[in-house]
Amino acid sequence: MSTGPSPREFRRLLLNWFAENARDLPWRRSRDPYSIWVSEIMLQQTRVAAVLEHYHRFLRRFPSVQDLAAAAEDEVLAHWSGLGYYRRARLLHRTAQVVVNEMDGRLPQTAAELRALPGVGDYTSAAIASIAFGEAAACIDGNVERVLRRLRAWHEDSGLRTKIREEAARLLDPGRPGDFNQAMMELGATVCLPRSPLCLQCPVCGLCATRGEHPARARKPMRARESAYAFLLRKRNRGDEVLLERRPPDATLMPGMWEMPALGPKPASEDAPILTLRHSITDTNYFVSIYGLNLKELRRLSTTTTARRWFAASELPTLPLTGLARKVLKRLHAWPDPGEASPAPALSRNRPIALKPGAD
Ligand code: SF4
Repeated sequence: MSTGPSPREFRRLLLNWFAENARDLPWRRSRDPYSIWVSEIMLQQTRVAAVLEHYHRFLRRFPSVQDLAAAAEDEVLAHWSGLGYYRRARLLHRTAQVVVNEMDGRLPQTAAELRALPGVGDYTSAAIASIAFGEAAACIDGNVERVLRRLRAWHEDSGLRTKIREEAARLLDPGRPGDFNQAMMELGATVCLPRSPLCLQCPVCGLCATRGEHPARARKPMRARESAYAFLLRKRNRGDEVLLERRPPDATLMPGMWEMPALGPKPASEDAPILTLRHSITDTNYFVSIYGLNLKELRRLSTTTTARRWFAASELPTLPLTGLARKVLKRLHAWPDPGEASPAPALSRNRPIALKPGAD
């Protein structure tokens, strides 16, 4: 069996390539453990482009672990809204409180100690320990795993996880573990792509056992679901207001988040929806219809008994909204313009929808 590429040669090629080709991402300009921690939690199962939209805003509001620990959970969720997987935000918040209350506000410096914190697993602990504190701990995310499997032509088998872990540790540059880990993840994210790896641009092509001739892991087919929601707004002197309902605290998905009143999969409305869109959550594509209703119709069509509340447009950005609610409110021009001051602005000057009269 082949022993694999020489670590020395591999590191040299990879780190030279990274120096020339690394994307300029804001968290790469920082060695602050707290900022790195926030970025690593945001990046789990989330596209870089989506994280870029939230990272600065989140750190502006919660610039330190103390600020995060002292905030109300709803406010943390509001600043996470749109990133999905809200359990991450809740855990981040809870862990910040542990760090402040039990560790004098300082994150531990080793991967082993970091792993003992709630919500910090192997990957995140290795990322923080190597990037912020220079510990030689190898990060293994989906990108790194794919690169190593192709590099060594390893197929699925029961010992694969151990082999990957050992190979990642063998190749890791102990002198520059943070840069090495980031370079490996960058290679997987930008060159050794899941479907069609760009082997001609790959810095370690000469050391690779497969050069793209390796089956990608089969992708699970997406499930399809239909869902429908009501959009209600009412006019007030200080501006328009939108009706929202809160998901139950024991809901499996997104407990306690606000959204438009749910109508179940197919409401018996005679009218066409005012908006249809597709929204993906993990392995499910939701085909969503939004109906412009008044309160009487909502009572007839609604499938939930959840408490509801009217919110002024200016309050919307401060609420822990589901990603779908946020997307719909923006599409329906119900979101306040960033530059507009309170009191709440009228919802839209050119809203392309016709709502039923008598919403309140
Ligand atoms: S040569 Fe191709 S398959 Fe091998 S590591 Fe590079 S991009 Fe991936």
